[in-house]
Amino acid sequence: MKLVVDLNRCQGYAQCAFLAPDVFAMHGDEALLYNPQPDDAQREYVTRAATACPVQAILVDSLDDASAPAEEGKSGVR
Ligand code: SF4
Repeated sequence: MKLVVDLNRCQGYAQCAFLAPDVFAMHGDEALLYNPQPDDAQREYVTRAATACPVQAILVDSLDDASAPAEEGKSGVR
């Protein structure tokens, strides 16, 4: 599976690191490290993490669904 974290949105709440510790980890107070291609066995945990993220920064399988939307996010941010 694939996932992307919108680090412009991520506020470092660390919910994801609690719910899917094999995929997400906090580095210091605010920097989030994550595995963008976790094993499918992690899907349940990743889904929970994505649901729990207060700012919906975790996008699951978005790379498979569409190739265009990635451009949208960039246009508003210089
Ligand atoms: S739960 Fe969301 S805001 Fe919090 S660290 Fe994870 S991705 Fe960032």
